[in-house]
Amino acid sequence: MALRFHNTLSGQVEDFTPLEGDKVRMYTCGLTVYDYGHIGNYRTFVFQDILRRYLKYRGYEVLQVMNLTDVDDNTIRGAKAHGIPLRDYTDKFIQAFEVDRQLLNLETPEIVVRATDHIDDMVKLIQELEAKGYAYRSDGSVYFSVRSFPPYGKLAQVDLSGLRPGARVDTDKYDKTDARDFVLWKAVKEGEPFWETPLGRGRPGWHIECSAMSMRYLGETFDIHSGGIDLTFPHHENEMAQSEAATGKPFVRYWLHAEHLIVNGEKMSKSLGNFYTLRDLIARGHKPTAIRYLLASVPYRKQLNFTFDGLHQAQHSIERLRNFRYRLTEEKFPGGENPELQARTQAARQAFEDALDDNLNTAEALAAIFDLVRDANTAMDRGEFREGNRPVFLDVLERWDRVFAVLEDTDFAKLRQFGFVKTVEGSVTADAVLVKPLADEEIEKRIAERDAARRRGDFARSDKIRADLLTAGVILEDTKTGTRWKRK
Ligand SMILES: [Zn+2]
Repeated sequence: MALRFHNTLSGQVEDFTPLEGDKVRMYTCGLTVYDYGHIGNYRTFVFQDILRRYLKYRGYEVLQVMNLTDVDDNTIRGAKAHGIPLRDYTDKFIQAFEVDRQLLNLETPEIVVRATDHIDDMVKLIQELEAKGYAYRSDGSVYFSVRSFPPYGKLAQVDLSGLRPGARVDTDKYDKTDARDFVLWKAVKEGEPFWETPLGRGRPGWHIECSAMSMRYLGETFDIHSGGIDLTFPHHENEMAQSEAATGKPFVRYWLHAEHLIVNGEKMSKSLGNFYTLRDLIARGHKPTAIRYLLASVPYRKQLNFTFDGLHQAQHSIERLRNFRYRLTEEKFPGGENPELQARTQAARQAFEDALDDNLNTAEALAAIFDLVRDANTAMDRGEFREGNRPVFLDVLERWDRVFAVLEDTDFAKLRQFGFVKTVEGSVTADAVLVKPLADEEIEKRIAERDAARRRGDFARSDKIRADLLTAGVILEDTKTGTRWKRK
């Protein structure tokens, strides 16, 4: 079966063939680094990781560029609110993003770039658009003229009939029903960072950043551009317009967009109290590989409903696979080979590959492996599994894990390496902090210890207990009537 992807541009599932032999050139919009990545972000990044891993599995050579948006409305607002330079502010979240990616076993793209390191490329592209009549100046800013580029709207299916001539938009995000001439270069504003350029003092708009960086490393036309579905408009629509207007060539051949993540059936939002960063989940004792598994388990074109039940099930599924691999490696089986089981592995591998070929149907790829594990366990219990079956089963598991990357139990080592787990004194081990949330009795016991420490004036000790509990996801609140606690 040929590898097929859903292309947002055509609205169809299409056979995938790269522009040049076995080379796949791919651009992914990375994190806008004004905050820690949330699980909606990571749903998209896990999808992109499965995509690149499967392309490699299929024998393609992948050249992936990922950008870090380190100058835009959000990053500038954040730096201002904290009273620090933009670069210092975004550095912190770039480092955190790198750690998060390692925790989630996300492969590092071949090229990771920061927008602020590519201002010259952006300026050149804007100058080209001006020279070709697609851009105009107003009050020191430069805008893209939507009317000058008739194909505008084809990616996101934007209806331009309500477009008011000369109406402009300066913000990075706006609604599809509000399509207008958008800003390429923003004139300097009081208190905002700026660059001194031939366009004047100012800073790039968000959309031009990705056009300039993707074409610089991947050429004027490349194979895949992917991101979350909410980036389709205006970000990707505008990227496409800017790039194609400047080069006169198709910009991207396959646009792949991951659907939203919702939480318990509702939109994730800070105001609803159901907003989780990766770090929030780790603080509650969940393992990164379980989070990765859960985020990968729903095909990317389907909405993913995140629940804590689902996360527990994900952990359970991983343990089943790891136990199976352990059994497969450690147990002694009678000599020879069971041909039925050999054929069974062939079928499972075929089902796994067919599923991923089919627009990355991860749910079916998982089902294929779990069916195989169930059958193998049954065969082992009945004494029908033979030594000669072992290597073939190990090979299928290894192939499966090249894409899903959850079989190695590296969570604890990584969390310790990055300082998420501190050894807690007393009966609570670091493992317990990580593996499961503390039991109520354990929390009460720690609070009693802390009260005792406070009574004898040992505040270092009491602060330590409070900090340790916080690491375990428990927040203490001291009131007149005693200490209350709640889980984060
Ligand atoms: Zn982008």
